[in-house]
Amino acid sequence: MKRNCTRRFSRKRRSAFQLIAVNRELQQPVTAIKGIGEETSEALREMGITTIEELLMHIPYRYEDYEVKDLAEVKHDEKVTVEGKVYSEPSLTYYAKKKSRLTFRLLVGRYLITVVCFNRPYLKQKLSMNDTVTVIGKWDRRRQAITANELKLGPLPQKRELEPVYSVRGSVTVKGMRRFIQLALAQYGEAIIDPLPLSMRRTYRLISKQEAIRAIHFPRSHEELKQARRRLVYEEFLLFQLKIHALRKVQREHSKGIAHSFAPEKLHDFIARLPFSLTKAQQRVVREILTDMQSPYRMNRLLQGDVGSGKTVVAAIVLYAAVLSGYQGALMVPTEILAEQHAQSLQALFASTDVTVALLTSSVKGKKRKEILEQLACGTIDIVVGTHALIQEEVNFQKLGLVITDEQHRFGVEQRRILREKGQAPDVLMMTATPIPRTLAITAFGEMDVSVIDEMPAGRKKVQTYWVKHHMFERVLDFMEKEIQKGRQAYVICPLIEESEKLDVQNAIDVHSMLTHYYRGKYNIGLMHGRLSSEEKEEVMKAFSENRVQVLVSTTVVEVGVNVPNATVMVIYDAERFGLAQLHQLRGRVGRGDEQSYCILIADPKSETGKERMRIMTETTDGFVLSEKDLQLRGPGDFFGTKQSGMPEFKFGDVVHDYRILEVARNDAAKLVQSTAFWRDESYQWLRLYLHESGVLDGEKLD
Ligand code: ADP
Ligand code: MG
Repeated sequence: MKRNCTRRFSRKRRSAFQLIAVNRELQQPVTAIKGIGEETSEALREMGITTIEELLMHIPYRYEDYEVKDLAEVKHDEKVTVEGKVYSEPSLTYYAKKKSRLTFRLLVGRYLITVVCFNRPYLKQKLSMNDTVTVIGKWDRRRQAITANELKLGPLPQKRELEPVYSVRGSVTVKGMRRFIQLALAQYGEAIIDPLPLSMRRTYRLISKQEAIRAIHFPRSHEELKQARRRLVYEEFLLFQLKIHALRKVQREHSKGIAHSFAPEKLHDFIARLPFSLTKAQQRVVREILTDMQSPYRMNRLLQGDVGSGKTVVAAIVLYAAVLSGYQGALMVPTEILAEQHAQSLQALFASTDVTVALLTSSVKGKKRKEILEQLACGTIDIVVGTHALIQEEVNFQKLGLVITDEQHRFGVEQRRILREKGQAPDVLMMTATPIPRTLAITAFGEMDVSVIDEMPAGRKKVQTYWVKHHMFERVLDFMEKEIQKGRQAYVICPLIEESEKLDVQNAIDVHSMLTHYYRGKYNIGLMHGRLSSEEKEEVMKAFSENRVQVLVSTTVVEVGVNVPNATVMVIYDAERFGLAQLHQLRGRVGRGDEQSYCILIADPKSETGKERMRIMTETTDGFVLSEKDLQLRGPGDFFGTKQSGMPEFKFGDVVHDYRILEVARNDAAKLVQSTAFWRDESYQWLRLYLHESGVLDGEKLD
């Protein structure tokens, strides 16, 4: 009993990546290592290291590079290690209180160079002519000099080129840590089990696990380090992907989801009555989703489609399918404006059917709210569109069969779970307009099936994008005016000030009054921000969509989903404050009708990446290209801007740089899980055991 508990605990703690698959011997306390006593063990415990495995998995965060190169090959400012003989008496000068400079000449092979040491006056006593010393520092090519970071008396400390540097705490030193790990490797290195069968290692020429762990700590060369990393990254990604694929298999086999069944003619009629014909991509994703819904598996699908690719109508079609099968559907969106718009679009689309669509947000109150809640519970409402209001406890469904979330990355795992659990294993579809880079899609969303709308409705013109500096603002306003005179409308989005809605609002108010002044009342300028009540917001949006307002000054509340096809100009003020994904979203508000649209970025970015972002925006309108760039510029951690995104953390792998390995590992994992050999052959026993230990096979969920 007790054993079981501790196993569960350790499983949780190590769930990110169980590195050395399940080897009991390595799970002994570090004191089992000869040479590590109680005192050291206590110090290590302070650092979270208790077992031998944990010690071996304490990976260097960098390496001291002792590689000795011929000085002729070292670039200016590059770090260099040299061993040489002191060739002149060191001279010491003080140039300020306690600031000193020590210089001497050093003979390195056939080169005579200068060594400069700052603020280490005591070295003067220790150095004498002809002494052999090792110097690590920055190479100044022009002056043929090294500014020393480290100076050691004596020859190169080891013949090893790379020396591991560990993060340490308390009484543990880096040197000590090197020694402990050396002891652990010497006594227990052999006990490291390789979970990868030899056949797999051969295929990719991967070094063994034992070799890799040794080399990641004490690499004999850069090449060896590279091979060790490659091997460990592959294993890490493979285990991660195996878990995902095994989980999917288990879920498919055991899930008692809903097998939706409906008359296809009715659905065809509905599609035929739409004001446009579906794009090929829309047809394909509808088919994918419906197939999933008809199967008894519980659908868990991500629908990706760039802004304007037409996800709403796809949602409508599959919601209709759910209703035709006798179930209710729910569509959850992140903002009230979006909820209202979606409710309106769906009501329009379903006008010719007997499907009832209701809107539920926190501003639906009193009697109306009570009514909707009752009708949801007894099933007279077929489809409900709403915000977080949908996951309140008071909301109950009679028979919820399909849950859709729009802009799904805005919701946390927990919120999606609550909504899901309002039905009996309903099918789940998550929509997103943030094109997720492939890299992230297969890590963060690996456990889902993915459908992609990769085609825009015909006749869409690309939004022309320009980047201008602030001093050109008046010309931008004149350009806007020309468009307005053609009967078009414009958005002006105001700077985003992080963490301060109040400042955002103030900005919008300022820009609004500036425009009112500039156009001297010729046009109606609307103002939209998060401090307005939802009635006020709705009124402004309504006025804008009916062209009673020609220019809408707004904070980023219009970012998602808003649809006013007559708007052709999107001006984004201080555009450098926005991320690429967000700029792309904003740009997606125009170019929704037949007219040529424009996006104007006003920005004076100071940093190079800021400039780079502006350039990329003007160069491409492809959301996937943008998202890949965004990922490269910002890194995966920042991409979604939230910890809830479910991005796993890897110890060795980097989803951006090691993308190729990730892709290979994913394909391998998918094939393995489907093969009979994997579930039977002895060579896969460790991988199978790993899956057992991580709880995937007894149906535990990843999220
Ligand atoms: P998003 O994917 O950004 O949510 P929407 O669903 O809002 O996009 O669709 C954008 C616009 O394109 C809407 O006005 C919608 O009516 C229109 N639309 C959707 N599908 C098509 C199509 N196949 N042909 C023409 N217009 C379409
Ligand atoms: Mg949308």
